[in-house]
Amino acid sequence: MIGWVLKKILGTQNQREVRRMLPSVQEINRLEEGLRPLAREELKAKTAAFRERLAQGATLDSLLPEAFAVVKNCCRRFTEEKRTIRVRGQEILWEMIPFDVQLIGGIVLHSGRIAEMATGEGKTLVATLPTYLNALTGQGVHVVTVNDYLAARDSEWMGEVYRELGLTVGCLQHGQSQAERRAQYACDITYGTCSEFGFDYLRDNGMATTPEDQVQRGHFYSIIDEVDSILIDEARTPLIISGPVTVSTHQFDKYRSSIEGLVRKQNGLCTDWANQAKEKVEAGDLQGAGRLLFRVKLGSPRNKLLLKFMEDPATRRAIDDAELEMYQDTRRTELYKTKEEMYFTIDERNSEADLSEMGRKFLNPADPNFFLVPDLITTNHDIDTDATLGTEEKLKRKQAAQAGYEEASQRIHNISQLLRAYCVFEKDVHYVVQENKVLIVDEYTGRLMPGRRWSDGLHQAVEAKEGVQIDRETQTLATITIQNYFRLYEKLAGMTGTAETEANEFKDIYRLGVVVIPTNRVCVRKDQDDLIFKTRREKLNALIEEIKKRNTAGQPMLVGTASVESSEVISRMLRRENIPHNVLNAKYHQQEAEIVARAGERGAVTIATNMAGRGTDIKLSPGVADLGGLHVVGTERHESRRIDRQLRGRCARQGDPGSSQFYISFEDDLMRNFGDSRRIAGLMTKLGMEDNEGLQHPWLNRSVETAQKRVEQRNYQIRKHTLQYDDVMNQQRTVIYSWRTDILTTPDPRKEVFETVDERIGAEVETRAGTDPVDLDGLIHWANTAMPLGLQKEELQDAGGKDAWKALLKKRVREAYELKVKFENPEAVKALEKYVLLGAIDRLWQEHLYAMDGLRTSINLRAYGQKDPLIEYKREAYGMFEELMERIKSEVVLNLFRSASSLSAFEHFLAALPQRTGRGEVPGLAPAAAPTEGSMSMGAGGGAASTAVDEALAPMKRQGPKLGRNDPCPMDPNKKFKNCCGATGSKTCFKVAA
Ligand code: ADP
Ligand code: MG
Repeated sequence: MIGWVLKKILGTQNQREVRRMLPSVQEINRLEEGLRPLAREELKAKTAAFRERLAQGATLDSLLPEAFAVVKNCCRRFTEEKRTIRVRGQEILWEMIPFDVQLIGGIVLHSGRIAEMATGEGKTLVATLPTYLNALTGQGVHVVTVNDYLAARDSEWMGEVYRELGLTVGCLQHGQSQAERRAQYACDITYGTCSEFGFDYLRDNGMATTPEDQVQRGHFYSIIDEVDSILIDEARTPLIISGPVTVSTHQFDKYRSSIEGLVRKQNGLCTDWANQAKEKVEAGDLQGAGRLLFRVKLGSPRNKLLLKFMEDPATRRAIDDAELEMYQDTRRTELYKTKEEMYFTIDERNSEADLSEMGRKFLNPADPNFFLVPDLITTNHDIDTDATLGTEEKLKRKQAAQAGYEEASQRIHNISQLLRAYCVFEKDVHYVVQENKVLIVDEYTGRLMPGRRWSDGLHQAVEAKEGVQIDRETQTLATITIQNYFRLYEKLAGMTGTAETEANEFKDIYRLGVVVIPTNRVCVRKDQDDLIFKTRREKLNALIEEIKKRNTAGQPMLVGTASVESSEVISRMLRRENIPHNVLNAKYHQQEAEIVARAGERGAVTIATNMAGRGTDIKLSPGVADLGGLHVVGTERHESRRIDRQLRGRCARQGDPGSSQFYISFEDDLMRNFGDSRRIAGLMTKLGMEDNEGLQHPWLNRSVETAQKRVEQRNYQIRKHTLQYDDVMNQQRTVIYSWRTDILTTPDPRKEVFETVDERIGAEVETRAGTDPVDLDGLIHWANTAMPLGLQKEELQDAGGKDAWKALLKKRVREAYELKVKFENPEAVKALEKYVLLGAIDRLWQEHLYAMDGLRTSINLRAYGQKDPLIEYKREAYGMFEELMERIKSEVVLNLFRSASSLSAFEHFLAALPQRTGRGEVPGLAPAAAPTEGSMSMGAGGGAASTAVDEALAPMKRQGPKLGRNDPCPMDPNKKFKNCCGATGSKTCFKVAA
């Protein structure tokens, strides 16, 4: 009742929202009529006029009606003159003038919200309205598509309008060079996929070493097509650029064979239990069987016999009963005991794996505690309360305990990832192995995702399992979640056929409201109730019969599957029946678009995973409407209702006839893991279910949807969780990236350098002055080792307090630096200064990313300590970041005087120093090195940057012939070398080295 009232209110709110836009629609239409008499050039001139008005202070909102009218009028002209456009090699006749609902969609997009518009409503065209309007600012509008093919298609197709009106359009494609990319971004409008945009951002901000290396111009306004797919489905794996790793801590190789042994042992155990269960079932002892099978479920969730028993409602119910019973609070000890009877337990729902005592003994008979997380809290408490220990000793012991704890955490983490790799992740379902690599298969789409990796060591664990090269050599150089990339935009908008069920998430995470826009024509699609079967086999047989029947009548069908694997199974079955069909699994976008476009032809049978052909229009061929239009069958309910709606939406577009139905079985993953089997089994008994027969009832639909809602909730929590952690990183990334950008773009890098050095000096003076007594010796030692200042104690004593020390140090650094650059080419110095800053930032930031990964891993284990891991994570991450900033500053100070644009400049500087200070020693500079001119460039990748720094710090190679002390010096042949260039201790003549 409450739900109904709520819906009523929400419904009307949405309707009110839409109604509020009607006056604007009327105005656009009125203005468009006024544009009809204009000459072609006059229409085009509107663009310049709008830009002029913007420059005079007009707002985009105020221009909206006129700008939309211009786009609409342009479409009318194309339609009237029957313009054809070459799109992806084919001539397409332009025959669209935006409908009123499309104008509404455009207004919603301009306002920075999500427009839910059904498939076939013409969202591609809708996007041109706000895109044109916002592109007038010249700031660059980004239109995001789900794949490269659609980016190219839409930029060519819709590009006709923009170009006609005098705007430029670009399109990002995978594999374009940096120069090409920059050209695309320079356009008023740029089409591309979210990965292309996101990776460009990471390269621009995390790796580029000159402004010329950057390709993006900023993040003003982005419209995301199929926004649910991008912001929800894709958002589960972050974008990562990785490079060579400096340290490696994983031990997957080391534990692999013992884990294999362990898994084998466990499987033996579980198979025995399953066989015993079978006997019990035969003897009529369902309860006993249920208990045994519950154990199998804990220990080996993908056991074949278990899966078979799960299909049968009676045994399935017995298993659920056993589970329910065991999870009661009063039975905790029993559950614990059960878990201890196997080597490890797996929780398939949460993808977690735990070793038991038995498992620990198996892996390390001598020391089972080897795989136990030490109780740090108790240990620390014991140390604290031990009166026999001094402060120093306590600290030492605590540090040792911490180190031991971290080591054990790492070890346990490795083991549990390996267990997951072996027991939950299946080859050819979750991943495939190609060319010695483990490639993730997107579970929603069946698409391979090259370049993406599971995080947290899971990917390496799977690589270890498959015996392929473990990519230990990579570490994260730059990473961002898709959520955080899109939060960069000043304004964000999206469009899709299915956003409503996820409206909360869009609101919470992206602050995007959803407006549901009515269809242009009434939708007459018939959604039939689900058909439920006991087993997958029965389900598929019935499905094939249905396809045969409709195919004989000539009705086209679209069969949606949840995975590539099940597409192939159905295809095999159809082949046996000699039914011609097409199989798509989102691997070849263009080819698939062409096939999907024909899915509405008479007698067509098209099998597709959910993403395949998304974005392509399915038109009915003549006569098909009389047969009932396109019939859509889902072979499985998806984890999310949204994906099911998406599939249903493929038919009955623009008022066409069409129908849809889902086939499900108890063997489906959704039903196995989340179905309320007690309820469903009860319903089935009540409704009377027979073998080989599907059952159909609205109650069943509701049960399935309840299961889906449960999964949706869980997945949302997972995404939110990921994001909460990433938020911390995001703040840090923002600080580092904007610092980097400042350095890249500043005309005066020396200012940045000195700001950094001054901060470092300030911090050091504060620390040294903060002790009692004041640590003046320490300060001098620091200053003289870090920089060639030749500072004397008396100078500081004379100077007075800490402010004066700061001032003195800052002054002396500047003097020393001026001396240094006197020998340098001024342009080279600029590059050098940037290099000193960027080198330090990049190297240490990457190290920091690595450390943060580690923190993330260890923090979850701390949940055992009853602390909120997120709070702990934030606290520690903050500390680590402060430390990072200090380390960067130290490194800048250190490298400032240790680098030079050429060897000769460097040696001249060295030579000049002692004379000035008169002390003949340059602390901290003795082992220094200078990069030669050639080693100055840092290359494109951050990895190269860090090696450049290392090279810069490695002992330098001296060039030129070695001179005897009494030989004449090439610099001034009238002098002996020892009295000329050799006077400062140099082994080379400056002239020769230069
Ligand atoms: P969506 O992305 O909303 O599913 P598309 O943008 O792919 O839809 O468009 C679906 C079809 O509708 C295309 O064939 C397009 O040519 C057609 N179309 C779009 N807008 C109009 C219009 N105003 N008048 C006529 N046809 C249109
Ligand atoms: Mg589309």
